[in-house]
Amino acid sequence: MQAVIDMSEILQNYIGGSWRESVGAETFINENPALRGSELNRAQASTEEDIDAAVTAAAEAFESWGSGNLTDRQEVVERFLDILSDSREELARIVSLENGKTIAESGGEVDSALLEGRYHLRQASAFTGVASRKGDGEVTAWEQHHPLGVAGVISPWNYPINVMCRKTLPALLTGNTIVFKPASYTPWSAVFMAGLFEKAGVPAGVFNCVTGRGSAVGNRLIRDSRVRAVSFTGSTEVGKKIQAVAARDFTRTQLELGGKNALVVLADADLDAAVEATVKAGFGCAGQWCTSTSRVLLDAKIADKYTKKLLKRCESMRVGDPLEEKTDMGPVAGAGQFNGIAAAIDRAIGEGSCMLCGGVSENSKGYFIEPTVFGNVTRQMSIFREEIFGPVLALSKVGGIDEAVEWANDSDYGLSSAIFTGDMSAAMRYIHGIESGMAHVNIHSGYKTPEFPFGGWKQSGFGPPENGRTGLEFFTRQKAVYVNSK
Ligand code: NAP
Ligand code: MG
Repeated sequence: MQAVIDMSEILQNYIGGSWRESVGAETFINENPALRGSELNRAQASTEEDIDAAVTAAAEAFESWGSGNLTDRQEVVERFLDILSDSREELARIVSLENGKTIAESGGEVDSALLEGRYHLRQASAFTGVASRKGDGEVTAWEQHHPLGVAGVISPWNYPINVMCRKTLPALLTGNTIVFKPASYTPWSAVFMAGLFEKAGVPAGVFNCVTGRGSAVGNRLIRDSRVRAVSFTGSTEVGKKIQAVAARDFTRTQLELGGKNALVVLADADLDAAVEATVKAGFGCAGQWCTSTSRVLLDAKIADKYTKKLLKRCESMRVGDPLEEKTDMGPVAGAGQFNGIAAAIDRAIGEGSCMLCGGVSENSKGYFIEPTVFGNVTRQMSIFREEIFGPVLALSKVGGIDEAVEWANDSDYGLSSAIFTGDMSAAMRYIHGIESGMAHVNIHSGYKTPEFPFGGWKQSGFGPPENGRTGLEFFTRQKAVYVNSK
């Protein structure tokens, strides 16, 4: 196994069971976002040739992996999960260093990957065909599930462990082989994970990891006609590009995309609980969950009271070094993220939104943004409409449940949502009316469990969602078999 945990190491690709430099011999810097200009290590700036080698290795390995036993595959995945569990602290530190989320959040991410991985491991056993016999016993029929072949996994940097596991483990369990292209902000955790797959005894070529720019190597991966499925999590913009390329060869896609998630607070809500849910889902991982709350729709009757409580809570938040146990919020993931969020804040101010607290931090050592809240936001403002993907909340006043649902639905996106209320009938109106893949009542918008689908409506997703019933099914094709035994 490559000793990937030493700082200053040059991280390598993992292709066909061996650690390799890119054929182009170029690397890129992995920066710690808490320290501008730092260099944690370097990763391979891979070329199309590296992707080609990885797809070739995956296609060759598919021949035995795809036709092998489910129990053998389960054993390998189980070993991987055990090693992942043993590596929790080490991996959490790597994620915090390269992504900026707090050490508690990074540990929580590993826990979430383990929970979902164990769900898929168990579900795989129940994932067999349904047999039926015709009344007279002449024809027996059943449904078989076959793997697709090589699957491409392209993941974002915000959940570098959890998102790749949510895609990779179901694909492996159902007999597919993988080429994984991680996000360029988080190559270290990706290469570390490749090392864990190697340690778990995944046969050569079954899991391959190639780092490098999405627009170059990610795009090349999708264009390869040997790749039969692409599971992607990232922005809506890139998701559309992927879908257009995949359409050429009918490559199956699972696209988990952006969001502009609304939290509704009605007049009868428990305001303290609503504020805590806002802080958790608005500022958790510095507002960089896809399910982060970014719009808050307040019943006008409680708007002032809620806002006062929220601002007080924001004041108490400590923004700083993600490795410090006391830190509530780390930096955002990198320079591009920081500049995008700072520009969105400026645009909101320019459009006449009222910034109640926050903004770019005075601590300029890293990419720090304070918990930021805008008040009196109207539906026309960009801060209401555009995904910011940072610790920035837009507060608006509404006149009750019907207006709240109308405003919440006034978005191109439809990933997650939440409502706080004590009124069951208002909650049911919201559940039926909200246009999003996840609806939460008296729970924050990021809450999820593996048994239920994780996917978005409208511009927030396409294809069968992850987790739930379709997490495994996405990576299989069906065959109906009829046998006349007479
Ligand atoms: P992104 O720019 O779309 O990148 C996502 C991944 O795609 C990265 O690995 C990226 O590589 C790669 N990529 C970029 N251009 C590509 C192309 N033309 N072809 C193939 N791959 C390409 O998104 P991001 O900024 O990393 O992540 C933030 C976004 O992800 C937000 O919109 C957020 O809402 C969304 N997200 C959604 C979910 C969900 O489950 N719905 C979960 C998490 C995040 P590089 O890093 O090298 O550019
Ligand atoms: Mg980084």
